[in-house]
Amino acid sequence: MLLNFRPDHVKKPRTIRGVALILLLLVLLPVLVFTVYEISGLSGSESFVADIYRRQLDIALFSINQFAWDVANTWTNAVENGWKPSGGGGPFPPGFAGEFLGRNPAIDAVFIADSTGADISFMVGRNGDDSTGRERLAVLLAGEKPLIGRLLMLSTHNYRKIEPRTLPDLSGQGGGVVLLFVMRDLRGVPALAGIRLHQERFVREVLGERMREAAGGEFVISVFRTSNGDRVFASEEGPGADPEQRRQLWLFPDLEVGIRLKGETIQQVARSRVSRDLVILVVLDAVLLSGVWVVYRSVRREMEFVRMKSDFVSNVSHDLRTPLALIRMYAETLEMGRLAGEEKKQEYYGTIVKETERLTRLVNNLLNFSRMEAGRRPYNLSPLDLNVVVRSVLDSFSPQMGSEGFSLVLDLDPAIPAVRADTEAVQEALINILDNAVKYSGAEKYLRVATGRRMDEIYVDIEDHGPGIPPEYRERIFETFFRVPSPQTPAAKGSGLGLAIARHIMEAHGGRVDLKSTPGRGSTFTMAFRYEHNTHH
Ligand code: ADP
Repeated sequence: MLLNFRPDHVKKPRTIRGVALILLLLVLLPVLVFTVYEISGLSGSESFVADIYRRQLDIALFSINQFAWDVANTWTNAVENGWKPSGGGGPFPPGFAGEFLGRNPAIDAVFIADSTGADISFMVGRNGDDSTGRERLAVLLAGEKPLIGRLLMLSTHNYRKIEPRTLPDLSGQGGGVVLLFVMRDLRGVPALAGIRLHQERFVREVLGERMREAAGGEFVISVFRTSNGDRVFASEEGPGADPEQRRQLWLFPDLEVGIRLKGETIQQVARSRVSRDLVILVVLDAVLLSGVWVVYRSVRREMEFVRMKSDFVSNVSHDLRTPLALIRMYAETLEMGRLAGEEKKQEYYGTIVKETERLTRLVNNLLNFSRMEAGRRPYNLSPLDLNVVVRSVLDSFSPQMGSEGFSLVLDLDPAIPAVRADTEAVQEALINILDNAVKYSGAEKYLRVATGRRMDEIYVDIEDHGPGIPPEYRERIFETFFRVPSPQTPAAKGSGLGLAIARHIMEAHGGRVDLKSTPGRGSTFTMAFRYEHNTHH
Protein backbone atom coordinates (compact mmCIF):
# COMPACT_ATOMS: atom_id res chain seq x y z
CA MET A 1 0.00 0.00 0.00
CA LEU A 2 2.74 2.33 1.00
CA LEU A 3 4.54 1.62 -2.23
CA ASN A 4 1.53 2.47 -4.29
CA PHE A 5 0.99 5.69 -2.47
CA ARG A 6 1.24 8.71 -4.68
CA PRO A 7 -0.20 12.02 -3.44
CA ASP A 8 -2.31 13.87 -5.94
CA HIS A 9 -0.07 16.91 -6.00
CA VAL A 10 2.91 14.95 -7.26
CA LYS A 11 3.08 15.61 -10.96
CA LYS A 12 2.92 12.69 -13.27
CA PRO A 13 6.27 12.24 -14.98
CA ARG A 14 6.43 13.23 -18.61
CA THR A 15 6.08 10.49 -21.15
CA ILE A 16 8.96 9.86 -23.51
CA ARG A 17 6.79 11.16 -26.33
CA GLY A 18 6.38 14.39 -24.39
CA VAL A 19 10.14 14.71 -24.03
CA ALA A 20 10.63 14.08 -27.74
CA LEU A 21 8.04 16.73 -28.52
CA ILE A 22 9.72 19.27 -26.26
CA LEU A 23 13.13 18.60 -27.80
CA LEU A 24 11.56 18.93 -31.23
CA LEU A 25 9.92 22.26 -30.45
CA LEU A 26 12.74 23.78 -28.42
CA VAL A 27 15.78 22.68 -30.37
CA LEU A 28 15.04 21.09 -33.70
CA LEU A 29 12.48 23.58 -34.93
CA PRO A 30 14.62 26.68 -34.23
CA VAL A 31 17.65 24.98 -35.78
CA LEU A 32 15.63 24.09 -38.84
CA VAL A 33 14.23 27.60 -39.21
CA PHE A 34 17.66 29.13 -38.72
CA THR A 35 19.23 26.81 -41.28
CA VAL A 36 16.59 27.51 -43.88
CA TYR A 37 16.94 31.22 -43.22
CA GLU A 38 20.73 31.08 -43.53
CA ILE A 39 20.66 29.06 -46.71
CA SER A 40 18.14 31.35 -48.31
CA GLY A 41 20.40 34.27 -47.34
CA LEU A 42 23.51 32.68 -48.81
CA SER A 43 23.03 33.99 -52.35
CA GLY A 44 22.61 37.45 -50.83
CA SER A 45 25.80 37.13 -48.86
CA GLU A 46 27.55 35.91 -51.98
CA SER A 47 26.86 39.18 -53.72
CA PHE A 48 27.70 40.98 -50.49
CA VAL A 49 31.13 39.38 -50.34
CA ALA A 50 31.62 40.10 -54.03
CA ASP A 51 30.74 43.74 -53.37
CA ILE A 52 33.32 44.01 -50.65
CA TYR A 53 35.99 42.64 -52.94
CA ARG A 54 34.93 44.98 -55.70
CA ARG A 55 35.21 47.93 -53.40
CA GLN A 56 38.65 46.82 -52.33
CA LEU A 57 39.76 46.62 -55.95
CA ASP A 58 38.28 50.03 -56.57
CA ILE A 59 40.37 51.46 -53.76
CA ALA A 60 43.51 50.07 -55.37
CA LEU A 61 42.58 51.70 -58.66
CA PHE A 62 41.78 54.94 -56.92
CA SER A 63 45.18 55.06 -55.26
CA ILE A 64 46.91 54.57 -58.62
CA ASN A 65 44.91 57.39 -60.13
CA GLN A 66 45.70 59.57 -57.14
CA PHE A 67 49.38 58.84 -57.47
CA ALA A 68 49.43 59.77 -61.17
CA TRP A 69 47.67 62.96 -60.32
CA ASP A 70 50.16 63.80 -57.56
CA VAL A 71 53.06 63.32 -59.98
CA ALA A 72 51.41 65.61 -62.52
CA ASN A 73 50.89 68.19 -59.81
CA THR A 74 54.54 68.09 -58.81
CA TRP A 75 55.56 68.66 -62.40
CA THR A 76 53.27 71.61 -62.95
CA ASN A 77 54.67 73.09 -59.74
CA ALA A 78 58.21 72.60 -60.98
CA VAL A 79 57.37 74.25 -64.31
CA GLU A 80 55.69 77.25 -62.66
CA ASN A 81 58.46 77.72 -60.14
CA GLY A 82 61.16 77.40 -62.80
CA TRP A 83 59.47 79.94 -65.01
CA LYS A 84 58.40 82.51 -62.36
CA PRO A 85 61.69 84.46 -62.18
CA SER A 86 61.73 85.30 -65.88
CA GLY A 87 57.98 86.01 -65.83
CA GLY A 88 55.78 88.02 -68.11
CA GLY A 89 55.84 86.80 -71.65
CA GLY A 90 59.34 85.51 -71.10
CA PRO A 91 60.69 82.06 -71.80
CA PHE A 92 62.14 79.54 -69.31
CA PRO A 93 65.46 80.53 -67.79
CA PRO A 94 68.32 79.09 -69.83
CA GLY A 95 68.88 75.39 -69.23
CA PHE A 96 65.74 74.87 -67.16
CA ALA A 97 63.63 73.14 -69.77
CA GLY A 98 66.40 70.86 -70.97
CA GLU A 99 67.24 69.82 -67.47
CA PHE A 100 63.55 69.26 -66.63
CA LEU A 101 63.03 67.05 -69.64
CA GLY A 102 66.21 65.18 -68.88
CA ARG A 103 65.03 64.37 -65.38
CA ASN A 104 61.59 63.19 -66.48
CA PRO A 105 61.71 60.89 -69.48
CA ALA A 106 57.92 60.57 -69.48
CA ILE A 107 57.64 64.23 -70.54
CA ASP A 108 57.94 64.93 -74.27
CA ALA A 109 57.73 68.71 -74.25
CA VAL A 110 56.82 71.81 -72.26
CA PHE A 111 55.41 74.98 -73.68
CA ILE A 112 54.29 78.49 -72.69
CA ALA A 113 51.54 80.44 -74.45
CA ASP A 114 49.81 83.72 -73.75
CA SER A 115 46.89 83.51 -71.34
CA THR A 116 44.36 83.03 -74.15
CA GLY A 117 46.34 80.19 -75.65
CA ALA A 118 46.34 81.91 -79.03
CA ASP A 119 50.06 82.42 -79.24
CA ILE A 120 52.44 79.62 -78.30
CA SER A 121 55.55 81.57 -77.46
CA PHE A 122 57.94 78.90 -76.25
CA MET A 123 58.04 75.25 -76.75
CA VAL A 124 60.86 72.93 -75.79
CA GLY A 125 60.64 69.35 -76.93
CA ARG A 126 62.86 66.40 -76.54
CA ASN A 127 64.36 67.07 -79.98
CA GLY A 128 64.44 70.82 -79.74
CA ASP A 129 61.55 72.89 -81.06
CA ASP A 130 59.43 70.32 -82.85
CA SER A 131 57.17 71.84 -85.43
CA THR A 132 54.57 69.08 -85.87
CA GLY A 133 54.09 69.14 -82.13
CA ARG A 134 53.56 72.86 -82.21
CA GLU A 135 51.05 72.54 -85.03
CA ARG A 136 48.96 69.94 -83.21
CA LEU A 137 49.06 71.98 -80.05
CA ALA A 138 47.79 75.03 -81.87
CA VAL A 139 44.87 73.06 -83.27
CA LEU A 140 44.03 71.77 -79.82
CA LEU A 141 44.23 75.16 -78.10
CA ALA A 142 42.12 76.79 -80.78
CA GLY A 143 39.34 74.37 -79.91
CA GLU A 144 39.65 74.79 -76.15
CA LYS A 145 38.93 78.49 -75.72
CA PRO A 146 36.21 78.00 -73.11
CA LEU A 147 38.43 75.66 -71.10
CA ILE A 148 41.33 78.11 -71.16
CA GLY A 149 38.99 80.89 -70.06
CA ARG A 150 37.88 78.79 -67.13
CA LEU A 151 41.42 77.91 -66.09
CA LEU A 152 42.29 81.61 -66.14
CA MET A 153 39.27 82.48 -64.04
CA LEU A 154 40.12 79.80 -61.48
CA SER A 155 43.70 81.06 -61.33
CA THR A 156 42.48 84.50 -60.31
CA HIS A 157 41.08 82.71 -57.28
CA ASN A 158 44.52 81.24 -56.69
CA TYR A 159 43.49 77.79 -57.82
CA ARG A 160 45.70 76.12 -60.34
CA LYS A 161 43.65 73.46 -62.02
CA ILE A 162 45.24 70.91 -64.34
CA GLU A 163 43.25 69.74 -67.36
CA PRO A 164 44.52 66.80 -69.39
CA ARG A 165 43.65 66.92 -73.11
CA THR A 166 44.35 64.49 -75.89
CA LEU A 167 46.30 65.99 -78.77
CA PRO A 168 44.76 65.58 -82.19
CA ASP A 169 46.48 62.96 -84.26
CA LEU A 170 47.49 64.84 -87.38
CA SER A 171 50.11 62.65 -88.94
CA GLY A 172 49.08 59.20 -87.75
CA GLN A 173 51.86 58.94 -85.19
CA GLY A 174 49.67 58.91 -82.12
CA GLY A 175 48.21 61.83 -80.23
CA GLY A 176 49.65 62.08 -76.78
CA VAL A 177 48.32 64.09 -73.88
CA VAL A 178 48.97 67.60 -72.71
CA LEU A 179 48.34 68.79 -69.19
CA LEU A 180 47.07 72.36 -69.50
CA PHE A 181 47.25 74.84 -66.62
CA VAL A 182 47.52 78.55 -65.98
CA MET A 183 50.54 79.87 -64.06
CA ARG A 184 51.48 83.32 -62.83
CA ASP A 185 54.79 85.07 -62.59
CA LEU A 186 56.09 87.03 -59.61
CA ARG A 187 53.99 90.05 -60.54
CA GLY A 188 50.88 87.95 -61.07
CA VAL A 189 50.84 88.06 -64.83
CA PRO A 190 49.21 84.87 -66.12
CA ALA A 191 50.36 82.56 -68.88
CA LEU A 192 49.00 79.31 -70.25
CA ALA A 193 51.42 76.43 -69.91
CA GLY A 194 51.41 72.81 -70.81
CA ILE A 195 53.30 69.60 -70.30
CA ARG A 196 53.12 67.07 -73.07
CA LEU A 197 53.31 63.55 -71.79
CA HIS A 198 54.37 60.37 -73.47
CA GLN A 199 51.53 58.10 -72.39
CA GLU A 200 53.25 54.74 -72.62
CA ARG A 201 56.41 55.97 -70.99
CA PHE A 202 54.45 57.60 -68.22
CA VAL A 203 52.52 54.42 -67.56
CA ARG A 204 55.58 52.23 -67.70
CA GLU A 205 58.13 54.35 -65.88
CA VAL A 206 56.10 56.47 -63.51
CA LEU A 207 53.09 54.32 -62.69
CA GLY A 208 54.64 50.90 -63.30
CA GLU A 209 56.42 50.55 -59.99
CA ARG A 210 53.40 51.82 -58.17
CA MET A 211 51.03 49.38 -59.88
CA ARG A 212 53.29 46.44 -59.19
CA GLU A 213 53.35 47.46 -55.55
CA ALA A 214 49.56 47.76 -55.39
CA ALA A 215 49.13 44.41 -57.12
CA GLY A 216 51.32 42.85 -54.43
CA GLY A 217 51.30 39.35 -55.92
CA GLU A 218 47.58 39.02 -55.27
CA PHE A 219 46.18 41.02 -58.15
CA VAL A 220 47.01 41.72 -61.73
CA ILE A 221 46.78 45.41 -62.66
CA SER A 222 46.83 46.37 -66.32
CA VAL A 223 46.40 49.50 -68.39
CA PHE A 224 44.32 49.49 -71.58
CA ARG A 225 43.66 51.90 -74.35
CA THR A 226 39.95 52.67 -74.17
CA SER A 227 39.57 53.25 -77.88
CA ASN A 228 40.86 49.88 -79.11
CA GLY A 229 41.23 47.75 -75.99
CA ASP A 230 45.01 47.23 -76.44
CA ARG A 231 46.90 46.39 -73.33
CA VAL A 232 49.60 48.97 -72.71
CA PHE A 233 50.89 47.65 -69.44
CA ALA A 234 50.45 44.71 -67.06
CA SER A 235 51.86 44.39 -63.57
CA GLU A 236 52.58 40.79 -64.40
CA GLU A 237 52.29 38.54 -67.39
CA GLY A 238 49.34 36.18 -67.37
CA PRO A 239 45.58 36.33 -67.21
CA GLY A 240 45.28 40.06 -66.77
CA ALA A 241 43.48 40.62 -70.01
CA ASP A 242 40.08 40.44 -68.43
CA PRO A 243 39.95 42.83 -65.50
CA GLU A 244 37.00 42.70 -63.14
CA GLN A 245 37.17 46.36 -62.25
CA ARG A 246 38.06 49.16 -64.61
CA ARG A 247 38.64 52.84 -64.01
CA GLN A 248 39.54 55.62 -66.32
CA LEU A 249 42.89 57.21 -65.59
CA TRP A 250 42.15 60.83 -64.74
CA LEU A 251 45.31 61.95 -66.40
CA PHE A 252 44.80 60.10 -69.68
CA PRO A 253 41.31 60.24 -71.11
CA ASP A 254 42.17 57.41 -73.46
CA LEU A 255 43.55 55.01 -70.86
CA GLU A 256 41.88 52.72 -68.39
CA VAL A 257 43.45 50.87 -65.52
CA GLY A 258 41.97 47.50 -64.70
CA ILE A 259 42.44 45.06 -61.87
CA ARG A 260 41.56 41.46 -61.19
CA LEU A 261 42.37 38.82 -58.64
CA LYS A 262 45.16 36.52 -59.62
CA GLY A 263 43.80 33.08 -60.43
CA GLU A 264 40.27 33.19 -59.10
CA THR A 265 37.59 35.66 -60.02
CA ILE A 266 35.71 37.62 -57.39
CA GLN A 267 32.70 35.45 -58.09
CA GLN A 268 34.74 32.32 -57.37
CA VAL A 269 36.24 33.75 -54.18
CA ALA A 270 32.82 34.82 -52.95
CA ARG A 271 31.36 31.47 -53.80
CA SER A 272 34.07 29.51 -52.03
CA ARG A 273 33.66 31.67 -48.94
CA VAL A 274 29.93 31.16 -49.00
CA SER A 275 30.25 27.42 -49.51
CA ARG A 276 32.64 27.31 -46.57
CA ASP A 277 29.95 29.02 -44.52
CA LEU A 278 27.51 26.43 -45.74
CA VAL A 279 29.80 23.60 -44.66
CA ILE A 280 30.18 25.16 -41.22
CA LEU A 281 26.41 25.50 -40.99
CA VAL A 282 25.86 21.89 -41.92
CA VAL A 283 28.52 20.68 -39.47
CA LEU A 284 26.97 22.79 -36.72
CA ASP A 285 23.56 21.36 -37.48
CA ALA A 286 24.94 17.86 -37.39
CA VAL A 287 26.55 18.50 -34.01
CA LEU A 288 23.33 19.96 -32.66
CA LEU A 289 21.24 17.13 -33.97
CA SER A 290 23.52 14.49 -32.54
CA GLY A 291 23.43 16.38 -29.25
CA VAL A 292 19.66 16.24 -29.30
CA TRP A 293 19.84 12.56 -30.12
CA VAL A 294 22.16 11.90 -27.20
CA VAL A 295 19.92 13.85 -24.84
CA TYR A 296 16.86 12.04 -26.13
CA ARG A 297 18.51 8.69 -25.72
CA SER A 298 19.76 9.32 -22.22
CA VAL A 299 16.38 10.68 -21.17
CA ARG A 300 14.74 7.62 -22.63
CA ARG A 301 17.15 5.35 -20.76
CA GLU A 302 16.65 7.28 -17.58
CA MET A 303 12.88 7.02 -17.87
CA GLU A 304 13.07 3.37 -18.65
CA PHE A 305 15.27 2.90 -15.62
CA VAL A 306 12.74 4.71 -13.45
CA ARG A 307 9.99 2.50 -14.83
CA MET A 308 12.05 -0.64 -14.18
CA LYS A 309 12.73 0.54 -10.67
CA SER A 310 9.07 1.03 -9.92
CA ASP A 311 8.30 -2.38 -11.44
CA PHE A 312 10.98 -3.69 -9.16
CA VAL A 313 9.37 -2.22 -6.09
CA SER A 314 5.99 -3.66 -6.94
CA ASN A 315 7.46 -7.07 -7.82
CA VAL A 316 9.53 -7.21 -4.68
CA SER A 317 6.59 -6.30 -2.51
CA HIS A 318 4.60 -9.02 -4.23
CA ASP A 319 7.45 -11.47 -3.72
CA LEU A 320 7.60 -10.56 -0.05
CA ARG A 321 3.89 -10.70 0.51
CA THR A 322 3.13 -14.01 -1.15
CA PRO A 323 5.40 -16.21 1.00
CA LEU A 324 4.50 -14.23 4.11
CA ALA A 325 0.80 -14.78 3.50
CA LEU A 326 1.38 -18.49 2.91
CA ILE A 327 3.54 -18.89 5.99
CA ARG A 328 1.01 -17.09 8.11
CA MET A 329 -1.91 -19.07 6.79
CA TYR A 330 -0.22 -22.43 7.30
CA ALA A 331 1.10 -21.46 10.73
CA GLU A 332 -2.38 -20.33 11.86
CA THR A 333 -3.94 -23.53 10.61
CA LEU A 334 -1.36 -25.54 12.53
CA GLU A 335 -1.83 -23.39 15.62
CA MET A 336 -5.55 -24.04 15.70
CA GLY A 337 -4.71 -27.77 15.72
CA ARG A 338 -7.50 -28.58 13.33
CA LEU A 339 -5.36 -30.75 11.08
CA ALA A 340 -6.24 -34.41 10.99
CA GLY A 341 -3.19 -36.51 10.18
CA GLU A 342 0.48 -36.21 10.98
CA GLU A 343 1.20 -36.41 7.26
CA LYS A 344 -0.81 -33.30 6.58
CA LYS A 345 1.03 -31.48 9.37
CA GLN A 346 4.38 -32.47 7.89
CA GLU A 347 3.29 -31.14 4.54
CA TYR A 348 2.36 -27.81 6.11
CA TYR A 349 5.67 -27.60 7.98
CA GLY A 350 7.46 -28.34 4.74
CA THR A 351 5.64 -25.56 2.94
CA ILE A 352 6.47 -23.12 5.71
CA VAL A 353 10.17 -24.03 5.51
CA LYS A 354 10.16 -23.74 1.71
CA GLU A 355 8.48 -20.36 1.80
CA THR A 356 10.87 -19.17 4.48
CA GLU A 357 13.77 -20.20 2.30
CA ARG A 358 12.29 -18.31 -0.60
CA LEU A 359 11.90 -15.26 1.58
CA THR A 360 15.43 -15.57 2.86
CA ARG A 361 16.74 -15.82 -0.66
CA LEU A 362 14.90 -12.72 -1.70
CA VAL A 363 15.99 -10.70 1.31
CA ASN A 364 19.56 -11.90 0.82
CA ASN A 365 19.44 -10.87 -2.80
CA LEU A 366 18.23 -7.44 -1.85
CA LEU A 367 20.82 -6.96 0.85
CA ASN A 368 23.65 -8.29 -1.26
CA PHE A 369 22.56 -6.23 -4.13
CA SER A 370 22.66 -2.99 -2.19
CA ARG A 371 26.04 -3.91 -0.76
CA MET A 372 27.28 -4.76 -4.22
CA GLU A 373 25.97 -1.51 -5.64
CA ALA A 374 27.99 0.30 -3.02
CA GLY A 375 30.99 -1.90 -3.84
CA ARG A 376 31.12 -3.12 -0.26
CA ARG A 377 30.49 -6.79 -0.68
CA PRO A 378 33.44 -8.76 0.72
CA TYR A 379 34.57 -11.94 -1.05
CA ASN A 380 36.43 -14.64 0.85
CA LEU A 381 38.37 -16.53 -1.76
CA SER A 382 39.35 -20.11 -1.14
CA PRO A 383 39.90 -23.17 -3.36
CA LEU A 384 36.53 -24.44 -4.44
CA ASP A 385 35.36 -27.57 -6.24
CA LEU A 386 32.64 -26.44 -8.61
CA ASN A 387 31.17 -29.94 -8.84
CA VAL A 388 30.50 -29.89 -5.11
CA VAL A 389 28.84 -26.50 -5.28
CA VAL A 390 26.66 -27.59 -8.23
CA ARG A 391 25.53 -30.74 -6.39
CA SER A 392 24.62 -28.98 -3.17
CA VAL A 393 22.68 -26.23 -4.97
CA LEU A 394 20.82 -28.78 -7.09
CA ASP A 395 19.97 -30.69 -3.93
CA SER A 396 18.15 -27.69 -2.56
CA PHE A 397 16.26 -27.38 -5.82
CA SER A 398 15.35 -31.03 -6.20
CA PRO A 399 12.09 -31.01 -4.18
CA GLN A 400 10.69 -28.21 -6.31
CA MET A 401 11.99 -29.69 -9.55
CA GLY A 402 10.70 -33.08 -8.59
CA SER A 403 7.20 -31.85 -7.86
CA GLU A 404 7.11 -29.89 -11.14
CA GLY A 405 8.34 -32.86 -13.14
CA PHE A 406 11.68 -31.55 -14.34
CA SER A 407 14.05 -33.92 -16.05
CA LEU A 408 17.62 -33.21 -14.99
CA VAL A 409 20.75 -34.14 -16.90
CA LEU A 410 24.04 -33.86 -15.01
CA ASP A 411 27.24 -33.75 -16.99
CA LEU A 412 29.96 -33.05 -14.46
CA ASP A 413 33.63 -33.38 -15.37
CA PRO A 414 35.35 -34.88 -12.34
CA ALA A 415 38.77 -33.76 -13.55
CA ILE A 416 38.23 -30.00 -13.34
CA PRO A 417 40.70 -28.23 -11.09
CA ALA A 418 39.60 -26.13 -8.15
CA VAL A 419 38.93 -22.46 -8.63
CA ARG A 420 39.61 -19.69 -6.13
CA ALA A 421 36.23 -18.29 -5.22
CA ASP A 422 33.82 -17.23 -2.50
CA THR A 423 31.60 -20.28 -1.94
CA GLU A 424 28.54 -18.39 -0.82
CA ALA A 425 28.71 -15.92 -3.67
CA VAL A 426 29.17 -18.61 -6.30
CA GLN A 427 26.23 -20.50 -4.84
CA GLU A 428 24.14 -17.39 -5.02
CA ALA A 429 25.00 -16.76 -8.66
CA LEU A 430 24.23 -20.35 -9.54
CA ILE A 431 20.95 -20.28 -7.59
CA ASN A 432 19.84 -17.17 -9.46
CA ILE A 433 20.51 -18.77 -12.82
CA LEU A 434 18.94 -22.10 -11.88
CA ASP A 435 15.98 -20.33 -10.36
CA ASN A 436 15.39 -18.53 -13.69
CA ALA A 437 15.65 -21.78 -15.63
CA VAL A 438 13.00 -23.37 -13.40
CA LYS A 439 10.88 -20.23 -13.26
CA TYR A 440 10.81 -19.42 -16.98
CA SER A 441 10.69 -22.91 -18.46
CA GLY A 442 7.26 -23.55 -19.90
CA ALA A 443 6.00 -26.97 -20.89
CA GLU A 444 9.49 -28.29 -21.75
CA LYS A 445 10.78 -28.96 -18.27
CA TYR A 446 14.34 -29.91 -19.08
CA LEU A 447 17.50 -28.91 -17.29
CA ARG A 448 21.07 -29.83 -18.05
CA VAL A 449 23.94 -28.79 -15.84
CA ALA A 450 27.50 -29.42 -17.00
CA THR A 451 30.95 -28.55 -15.75
CA GLY A 452 34.22 -28.72 -17.60
CA ARG A 453 37.34 -26.98 -18.84
CA ARG A 454 37.61 -25.04 -22.09
CA MET A 455 40.92 -23.39 -23.05
CA ASP A 456 41.92 -21.45 -19.93
CA GLU A 457 38.46 -21.37 -18.38
CA ILE A 458 36.52 -23.62 -16.06
CA TYR A 459 32.82 -23.40 -16.66
CA VAL A 460 29.37 -24.37 -15.45
CA ASP A 461 26.72 -24.55 -18.18
CA ILE A 462 23.05 -24.32 -17.22
CA GLU A 463 20.82 -25.27 -20.13
CA ASP A 464 17.05 -25.14 -20.29
CA HIS A 465 14.44 -25.76 -22.98
CA GLY A 466 12.41 -22.74 -21.99
CA PRO A 467 11.22 -19.84 -24.16
CA GLY A 468 14.72 -18.51 -24.86
CA ILE A 469 15.67 -14.86 -24.99
CA PRO A 470 15.37 -12.65 -28.08
CA PRO A 471 18.73 -11.37 -29.37
CA GLU A 472 17.98 -7.73 -28.60
CA TYR A 473 17.66 -8.54 -24.89
CA ARG A 474 20.64 -10.86 -24.50
CA GLU A 475 22.86 -8.18 -23.03
CA ARG A 476 20.15 -6.19 -21.34
CA ILE A 477 18.87 -8.99 -19.12
CA PHE A 478 22.10 -8.59 -17.15
CA GLU A 479 21.20 -4.98 -16.37
CA THR A 480 19.85 -4.09 -12.98
CA PHE A 481 16.03 -4.26 -12.84
CA PHE A 482 15.78 -5.24 -16.46
CA ARG A 483 13.13 -7.85 -17.29
CA VAL A 484 12.19 -9.00 -20.74
CA PRO A 485 8.85 -7.34 -21.32
CA SER A 486 5.77 -9.55 -21.46
CA PRO A 487 4.39 -11.50 -23.25
CA GLN A 488 7.78 -13.27 -23.24
CA THR A 489 7.56 -13.80 -19.46
CA PRO A 490 3.91 -13.41 -18.67
CA ALA A 491 3.46 -15.33 -15.49
CA ALA A 492 6.73 -15.35 -13.60
CA LYS A 493 7.32 -12.59 -11.12
CA GLY A 494 10.77 -11.29 -10.48
CA SER A 495 12.86 -8.34 -9.42
CA GLY A 496 15.21 -8.06 -12.40
CA LEU A 497 18.13 -8.40 -10.01
CA GLY A 498 19.09 -12.06 -10.30
CA LEU A 499 21.27 -11.93 -13.40
CA ALA A 500 22.73 -8.54 -12.50
CA ILE A 501 23.90 -10.05 -9.24
CA ALA A 502 25.21 -13.19 -10.94
CA ARG A 503 27.22 -11.15 -13.41
CA HIS A 504 28.53 -8.88 -10.69
CA ILE A 505 29.72 -11.85 -8.66
CA MET A 506 31.38 -13.54 -11.61
CA GLU A 507 33.15 -10.37 -12.66
CA ALA A 508 34.37 -9.86 -9.11
CA HIS A 509 35.99 -13.28 -9.50
CA GLY A 510 37.63 -12.25 -12.76
CA GLY A 511 35.22 -14.47 -14.64
CA ARG A 512 32.10 -13.91 -16.70
CA VAL A 513 28.49 -14.93 -17.27
CA ASP A 514 27.37 -15.48 -20.84
CA LEU A 515 24.28 -16.52 -22.64
CA LYS A 516 23.53 -18.49 -25.75
CA SER A 517 19.90 -18.70 -26.65
CA THR A 518 17.57 -19.65 -29.45
CA PRO A 519 14.14 -18.12 -28.96
CA GLY A 520 11.56 -20.90 -28.67
CA ARG A 521 14.26 -23.53 -28.13
CA GLY A 522 15.91 -22.60 -24.86
CA SER A 523 18.85 -20.87 -23.22
CA THR A 524 22.29 -21.84 -22.01
CA PHE A 525 23.91 -19.70 -19.37
CA THR A 526 27.61 -20.13 -18.77
CA MET A 527 29.45 -19.21 -15.61
CA ALA A 528 33.14 -19.19 -16.46
CA PHE A 529 36.10 -18.88 -14.11
CA ARG A 530 39.65 -18.17 -15.20
CA TYR A 531 41.82 -21.19 -14.82
CA GLU A 532 44.89 -20.38 -12.77
CA HIS A 533 47.63 -22.97 -12.67
CA ASN A 534 48.73 -22.28 -9.11
CA THR A 535 45.32 -23.26 -7.71
CA HIS A 536 45.66 -26.66 -9.22
CA HIS A 537 45.98 -29.43 -6.72
P1 ADP B 1 14.05 -11.72 -12.67
O1 ADP B 1 13.94 -11.46 -11.23
O2 ADP B 1 13.07 -11.01 -13.49
O3 ADP B 1 14.11 -13.18 -12.99
P2 ADP B 1 16.74 -11.73 -13.65
O4 ADP B 1 17.81 -10.68 -13.64
O5 ADP B 1 17.05 -12.99 -13.00
O6 ADP B 1 15.44 -11.08 -13.09
O7 ADP B 1 16.37 -12.02 -15.17
C1 ADP B 1 16.14 -10.97 -16.05
C2 ADP B 1 15.19 -11.36 -17.14
O8 ADP B 1 15.80 -12.27 -18.03
C3 ADP B 1 13.98 -12.10 -16.65
O9 ADP B 1 12.96 -11.19 -16.31
C4 ADP B 1 13.57 -12.95 -17.83
O10 ADP B 1 12.77 -12.18 -18.70
C5 ADP B 1 14.87 -13.20 -18.53
N1 ADP B 1 15.40 -14.55 -18.26
C6 ADP B 1 16.33 -14.88 -17.35
N2 ADP B 1 16.61 -16.21 -17.38
C7 ADP B 1 15.82 -16.74 -18.36
C8 ADP B 1 15.64 -18.08 -18.87
N3 ADP B 1 16.34 -19.12 -18.42
N4 ADP B 1 14.77 -18.23 -19.89
C9 ADP B 1 14.08 -17.18 -20.37
N5 ADP B 1 14.19 -15.91 -19.91
C10 ADP B 1 15.06 -15.67 -18.93
